[in-house]
Amino acid sequence: MRIAILSRRPSLYSTTRLKEAGKNRGHEMSVVDYLRCYMDITSRRPQVIYQGEPLKVDAVIPRIGASNTFYGTAVVRQFEMMGVFVANESQAISRSRDKLRSLQLLARDGVGLPVTGCAHSTKDIDGVISLAGGTPLVVKLIEGTQGVGVILAETKKAAQAVIEAFRGLDANILVQEYIKEAGGSDVRCFVVGGKVVASMKRQAGPGEFRSNLHRGGTAEKVKITPEERSTAVRAARTMGLNISGVDVLRSNHGAVVMEVNSSPGLEGIEKSTGVDVAAKIIEFIEKNAKAGLQRDKGK
Ligand code: ADP
Ligand code: GLU
Repeated sequence: MRIAILSRRPSLYSTTRLKEAGKNRGHEMSVVDYLRCYMDITSRRPQVIYQGEPLKVDAVIPRIGASNTFYGTAVVRQFEMMGVFVANESQAISRSRDKLRSLQLLARDGVGLPVTGCAHSTKDIDGVISLAGGTPLVVKLIEGTQGVGVILAETKKAAQAVIEAFRGLDANILVQEYIKEAGGSDVRCFVVGGKVVASMKRQAGPGEFRSNLHRGGTAEKVKITPEERSTAVRAARTMGLNISGVDVLRSNHGAVVMEVNSSPGLEGIEKSTGVDVAAKIIEFIEKNAKAGLQRDKGK
């Protein structure tokens, strides 16, 4: 098959590993900078043009960065319109980039979540604080990534001040129960085609509660419980993502989902678990691209 990896950075670990895994399995792999793709939206013969030539591929692996969601998902959607198999659909990627919408969908489907509130008016600050069970609690910027804008407020005064400050800047926020018992760790479940193919436990550095590897967290292989496995698989299904990284916290009311990432990195998970995750992704495409199995088709 001809498989294009939509990525801005050919030298990134994830990109090089996907390219290598595809080549090893006999595919023609290319790395395409989606911000340099342009689109011909002519009726009945939509095309994606790259370096002056229409792109002819059988499948696409989107690796869209959070700051390029608008244009990146438009390029993915264009491939969907052309009938090209995409490993994650444009609608699913957009859905996952909105933390509030994601939590609402997961809640509807009964996936375990931390108690979470959201409010617009500063007059409702005390209301959402008590909804989240009082302090300590976590305040999150809805638009944040990699742990930026995730704040632990220990006291009611601090929580009120942080929420007021964010709302004063017109930033949208979530107010969330603090899962203290997670002890600064979370479990990343890498889901491919409805199966958890690898899982790692990430532990925050000293004096930090955010376990993001970008924030100096460390990772090790972990054995997950059946409940964690089914939570991760259900979360991925709700989001409509074939390939995802589901972050789960171990709370004393069970496994709760933090977020579902549509471009999960391969480096941490492959190095800590020894699993060839890139090959699992390519195998998934081999099995499903033929069936033309797509859920949303850009709708
Ligand atoms: P981002 O999308 O920016 O990574 P997250 O919501 O995943 O933001 O939060 C970053 C990290 O902070 C999580 O991986 C987790 O370790 C920690 N964290 C976030 N929310 C909570 C919470 N409610 N209770 C305990 N720890 C949390
Ligand atoms: N992992 C990043 C994300 O949040 C981006 C990865 C990439 O652009 O390749 O989507």
